[in-house]
Amino acid sequence: MKKETIPINDLAYQQKLLMPEILDAIEEVISSGRYVLGEKVEEIEKEIASLCGVKFGIGVNSGTDALILSLHALHIGRGDEVITSPFSFVASAESIVIVGARPVFADIDPLTFNISPAEIEKKISKRTKAIMPVHLFGQASDMTTITEIAKANSLYIIEDSAQAILARHKNKPVCSFGEVGCLSFYPTKNLGAIGDGGMILTSDEDLCRRLKLMRCHGGRDYTFQFLGTNSRLDELQAAILLVKLPYLKKWTEERRKNGQIYKELLKDVEEIQLPYEKPENYHVYHQFTLRAKNRDELRNYLLNEGIQTMVYYPHPLHLQPAFSYLGYKEGDFPEAEKAAREVISLPIYPGLKEEQIIRIANAIRRFYGRKEV
Ligand SMILES: *Cc1c(COP(=O)(O)O)cnc(C)c1O
Repeated sequence: MKKETIPINDLAYQQKLLMPEILDAIEEVISSGRYVLGEKVEEIEKEIASLCGVKFGIGVNSGTDALILSLHALHIGRGDEVITSPFSFVASAESIVIVGARPVFADIDPLTFNISPAEIEKKISKRTKAIMPVHLFGQASDMTTITEIAKANSLYIIEDSAQAILARHKNKPVCSFGEVGCLSFYPTKNLGAIGDGGMILTSDEDLCRRLKLMRCHGGRDYTFQFLGTNSRLDELQAAILLVKLPYLKKWTEERRKNGQIYKELLKDVEEIQLPYEKPENYHVYHQFTLRAKNRDELRNYLLNEGIQTMVYYPHPLHLQPAFSYLGYKEGDFPEAEKAAREVISLPIYPGLKEEQIIRIANAIRRFYGRKEV
């Protein structure tokens, strides 16, 4: 009998659970006649700002736009440098390039895959304006040390929290450490819309005011103080996110529970290194990413067993053709390069069943010649 395929993610699961409420919310927006910057956007901005422990939320089109607008609002541009991780989704460094500044990479901490504070310090120059830590896979970067470095060197912090909504460091939520924090509501993220969406979080009132103008071309009432762009979270997505938000804590706990089950079932397999949650962090397991010996063979083996996996990310950013003009070469960031060779992400989504996790763990155990559990 052919086994049922286990996908890397099940994007329809949450919507199916809440279908009547989501359809009601959509109908309400359609009937209201208010489709851009209405009550729903205001409400989700307030709710998420409060969850993140900051004063203001600014709903925008995507996580990428959240990063670009944040950099722009902080007046970062031509001639400036921003230090970020070479082991991330392209949008982190891309946003820096889009505002005209230069991304400067600093290698990662091999235990957490997050940017290493010691490496950040080595990269600070007269041109450095900001640090953009990425809370990769759902675990906060070392914000205690990064905040100290930023303070000592008068640098801004822009937190790329696209993968880490609700994650905490020393019990303080991500997005509350820097001048700004950026979230994505792309469907695969822990809080996903039914399309694109993002949000900027800040407690700086003046920055919030500027960002709200910036997402509407820089002005209001046909008077423009400066130029911005068109980037707004729309009412439909906001209404859908409002239906889903009350379940986010439960879904996050489900991700954590799934992670615990994997850890228990795989703890004796020396060929893999399981995700490490630092004691001072609350990891939200956007991804369950491990390092594996013979990673590509393992992936193929699992695929043949009907188990989908992903490699986030197969190439570090400094070796991407798009960034070749920065002049980096192989060997510049050995930890990011090693991670790109070794990592594999397993299904972890809420809705994944315990027997599916056992099936995946047993397939991994068989691959490495271990007894099934
Ligand atoms: C998803 C993601 C983004 C971009 O968010 P979009 O909403 O897709 O534009 C930025 N940074 C990281 C780390 C991400 O995972």
